[in-house]
Amino acid sequence: MLSVKDLVVNYGAIQAIKKVNFEIHTGEIVTLIGANGAGKSTILHTISGIMRPVSGQVTYLDRQIQRVAAPKIVQAGISQVPEGRHIFPGLSVQENLQMGAFLRKDRRNIAQAYEDVYNYFPVLKQRRHQDAATLSGGEQQMLAMGRALMAKPKLMLLDEPSMGLAPIFINEIFDIIRAINAAGTTVLLIEQNANKALSIANRGYVLASGEIKLSGTGQELLANTAVQKAYLGG
Ligand code: ATP
Repeated sequence: MLSVKDLVVNYGAIQAIKKVNFEIHTGEIVTLIGANGAGKSTILHTISGIMRPVSGQVTYLDRQIQRVAAPKIVQAGISQVPEGRHIFPGLSVQENLQMGAFLRKDRRNIAQAYEDVYNYFPVLKQRRHQDAATLSGGEQQMLAMGRALMAKPKLMLLDEPSMGLAPIFINEIFDIIRAINAAGTTVLLIEQNANKALSIANRGYVLASGEIKLSGTGQELLANTAVQKAYLGG
């Protein structure tokens, strides 16, 4: 579904991503794990069209997208759930969801999209008229995921969904990521919680200092002693 080839991304003189290669097959959950500053978010921003690479290709469904504008990428079926959620605090839950459908051309299917989101996240339905600012951190994460789902993505990019959440919410969020994937959405998951991410991923890549250092199935990486030492507290 997506392949990233020899990707190089800079911030001014800083080379954040150094010839990275990886791929995602339709139906998979793939995770990118790595420490703070490894370059995980930069890769997501490049796939979603927010950043332009210096060189390299991002190919999505047989089309090169590394120079395509972000709104077109959303319309092509890639939605990002950003780190820190970035919900609109002064808008209601429902209005936040509505924003996620902003670029959809098939307007008549939007009512169904709300239903799908409310099925995943019943608490959002209960709170649909509340200001998003009044939601807990876990509920805000659900809202950010719901907003991305409103665009009916084929590929969902999740940036640190567990960040700052209580363990009970983390488990719930990971269960829902699985459910979204089981319903047909391919997932690229970026996480510092490597244990959780590798547990639900088909495959994973380990990123350090802008380079892919290791790859394997989720289970292989969980069992890898270097990964355990560096990322799993082992
Ligand atoms: P985190 O988990 O902290 O978000 P990350 O793995 O997502 O980390 P990135 O945010 O992609 O890492 O950052 C990769 C590198 O690029 C880091 O060295 C970071 O300091 C640098 N960087 C990120 N954003 C900028 C920016 N706007 N200007 C300059 N350098 C940046």
